[in-house]
Amino acid sequence: MKDLIIVGAGPAGLSAAIYGIRAGLDLLVVEKFSPGGQVINTYEVENYPGFAEPLSGWELMSRMEEQARRLGTEIVSGDVESVAADAGRFSVTMAGGQVMEAKTVIAATGASYRRLNVPGEEQYIGHGVSFCATCDGAFYRDRVCAVIGGGNTALEEAHFLTRFASKVYLIHRRDQYRGVKILQDRVAASDRIEPVLDTVVESINGATKVEGLTLKNVKTGARSDLAVDGVFIFVGFDANTGYLPAEVLDENREVVVDINMRTEVPGLFAAGDLRSGSRRQIVMAAAEGATAALEAYDYILGLT
Ligand code: NAP
Repeated sequence: MKDLIIVGAGPAGLSAAIYGIRAGLDLLVVEKFSPGGQVINTYEVENYPGFAEPLSGWELMSRMEEQARRLGTEIVSGDVESVAADAGRFSVTMAGGQVMEAKTVIAATGASYRRLNVPGEEQYIGHGVSFCATCDGAFYRDRVCAVIGGGNTALEEAHFLTRFASKVYLIHRRDQYRGVKILQDRVAASDRIEPVLDTVVESINGATKVEGLTLKNVKTGARSDLAVDGVFIFVGFDANTGYLPAEVLDENREVVVDINMRTEVPGLFAAGDLRSGSRRQIVMAAAEGATAALEAYDYILGLT
């Protein structure tokens, strides 16, 4: 029986491990993919305190992982299917059927890219549809791309794509971007980005790969076709919470926590992008992971 099982090895999970292990907890981190979380796909991080110069998401998360491992964190690969509370202990069941037990659990599995759910989207993933400009941007050198969305991710990634693409259409369903001013200014200053506002994608078209989009202007109702070689979809995230008890989730299936990262279930904590109201910032996920680990420590000692 472990003191603590942390599910997820992104900024929240790794920070929880660093704080938990330094508090003397016998803990284990379980990660479905490779450690680092979504951040490893970020080309440049310029708002994580302590780094005057931007660094890549991959480098930041490699450093976090190295720090956690140096302190003695064990990270195992696995897909957690369920976390169930029973008489003051937790059973963590893996997809293969293996069950591990712990006194406390921190859920830190973040969120996944939301889909547009239009025809052609699933079909052309890897053939012109992408959710990662850092991964796939270089395939679009001197070609034409579309970015869908109006939040920080869409603005940041559209700007990143101008390193390669000859033209980037930035397609947003409203006439105002949601992203912050500094990113809006960067987009406005680029002669390679063409905003397409008040517009939604109705379908992603092509014979064997993406060749174009069918668009609809939501104000006029007019439909049009736009030729593009690739489409990058950044319309938000859905929390990865399918393995958690329904009683800790809200109507959006995000985890409800108090200011100390405690859920409704004593001993079960959540930190990072999966929690309701998250602002999805690396520094916030890291801070929440630290809080959750210190709370888990207090809970085990019977202090809370
Ligand atoms: P977001 O802020 O939720 O924005 C999603 C965007 O997609 C919105 O503009 C939304 O339009 C649009 N959208 C949603 N569903 C859509 C649909 N079905 N069809 C068309 N458009 C749709 O998501 P995000 O940009 O990925 O950012 C997520 C979080 O990460 C935010 O809290 C953000 O601040 C943070 N983040 C921060 C940084 C940074 O600090 N540098 C970088 C990246 C992300 P509406 O605006 O009309 O709702």
